[in-house]
Amino acid sequence: MSTDENDTAEESSASPRTQSVDVVVVGAGTSGCYAAATIANAGYDVTIVERKSAEEAGHIACGDALKGADAFPEAIPKSKIEPAFTNTEVDHGRFEIPQEDTVLDIPVPGELAVIDRWEYGRLIIEGADEAGVELHYDTVVQDVKQDDDGTVTGIVGKHDGEVVEYDADIVIDGAGSLSLLQDKVDFSDATFDTNVSYQHFSSAYREVVEVPEPVEWSDALVFKPAEVAAGYVWYFPRTETEINAGLGFQMTEEPMKLVDDLKKDLRERPEFEGAEVIDKLGAALPTRRPYDSATAPGYMAVGDAAAHVNPTTGGGIAGAAYAGKYAGEQAAIALDAGDVSEEMLWRYNQRVMDHFGGRYASLDVYNILSTAVDVDDLMGLIASIPGEKLAEALYSGTTSFGPVLLAQTAASSYGHWSQIYEFFKIKRLADELLAHYGRYPTRPSALEGWKVERDRIMDDIYELTGADPKY
Ligand SMILES: Cc1cc2nc3c(=O)[nH]c(=O)nc-3n(C[C@H](O)[C@H](O)[C@H](O)COP(=O)(O)OP(=O)(O)OC[C@H]3O[C@@H](n4cnc5c(N)ncnc54)[C@H](O)[C@@H]3O)c2cc1C
Repeated sequence: MSTDENDTAEESSASPRTQSVDVVVVGAGTSGCYAAATIANAGYDVTIVERKSAEEAGHIACGDALKGADAFPEAIPKSKIEPAFTNTEVDHGRFEIPQEDTVLDIPVPGELAVIDRWEYGRLIIEGADEAGVELHYDTVVQDVKQDDDGTVTGIVGKHDGEVVEYDADIVIDGAGSLSLLQDKVDFSDATFDTNVSYQHFSSAYREVVEVPEPVEWSDALVFKPAEVAAGYVWYFPRTETEINAGLGFQMTEEPMKLVDDLKKDLRERPEFEGAEVIDKLGAALPTRRPYDSATAPGYMAVGDAAAHVNPTTGGGIAGAAYAGKYAGEQAAIALDAGDVSEEMLWRYNQRVMDHFGGRYASLDVYNILSTAVDVDDLMGLIASIPGEKLAEALYSGTTSFGPVLLAQTAASSYGHWSQIYEFFKIKRLADELLAHYGRYPTRPSALEGWKVERDRIMDDIYELTGADPKY
């Protein structure tokens, strides 16, 4: 049962308002809502603390493409979020490669929906609320509470100019990219990954644009390389006439002028003549491998706060939902046992790595490659690889070429053979990395040893690609 200590304690103007809950979750995004709903369903008290107002919550910068829409965690059922799926006809990616005067149509495996992101945001909050989660809006978290032994025991925030404190057995950090909480926790006695720099992020911006006539590609996600190698422009059709148009670049590169560059691209496309911009938002997103560990005693980070994003596509909604589920389930197990130690929370890391973390880490290898090669070379190479193989590589992190395909690829890729050979060597290392993530440790004390071998594979990758070490 949650308590407001000031209901019973004597009021003092100096003492902050303190509430006690089993779990406090920071952030009412996808990861926070799925984590909180999972915990509420297990019968525990959980409060989400969100800096935005009740009206603005759920309004998040996004390309609005939801991959894996068919298999979302049950804590907030698919039927709850489905009304936000405005386009379920999309079945392929359309890769425009102006350098090669080529358009590649590449199938996207699994179910895909383009969504009204704000409506989706409101619906997951509603779903969490219906599961029994308490939501506290307009509350900016500014600090954490931590015991002498390093266990995180709560958070400190500000609501309406007043300091508010939450005491909790477990704090779940779903505060998104560059989460402020991680600057506040002392992780010296934990395995939590602090090897994070701004270069591991992309800066991205999007507009929602209404066009006068239906676009011809309303069944496709349109991608186009940006002028810097590790960046792209996208056009995702929410409906035939409402398009999410955006772009982003890895922060290792020369900064793009996001608003101007998007405007320029829109001007060059006849289908956007007479278009009206109805919403604009930008943000940073992690395009790096998932955190090696996202746990500390009494604390777990989920979603963007732990880099649970496909680093080649920037898709992070599905990872955030599943990280929320796994963290929520582990929180319930820890509360049942009365033990919130890192050893007890560790299984959360294992489930993330097992489900998608290893795959995302191996996809990051191609991200590293893209920062080290010339954009024209890369586009030439991509144009020469059979579409379905590219789709496999993009989404599963691995692909295999049989002898016939290999011959076809070699024929279509004349002029790119040396790059293809390099690409195969890199792919071998990416596969080795994926296999190593398959051996992710079963306990925190084994993490350091596991990292030694992982870093050896990464050294080979840097050497082969010529890229600057990323981590
Ligand atoms: C421009 C852009 C386009 C993208 N396109 C796609 C796409 O098409 N498909 C896809 O799958 N993914 C996409 N992503 C990534 C996706 O949006 C994220 O991976 C996903 O939203 C992560 O969810 P989250 O819950 O971890 O974080 P968020 O959705 O960012 O939620 C974090 C929440 O925490 C709150 N918060 C932050 N700090 C505090 C604080 N101190 N106190 C209280 N509350 C706080 C925020 O207000 C917010 O509500 C895109 C990202 C960007 C930036």
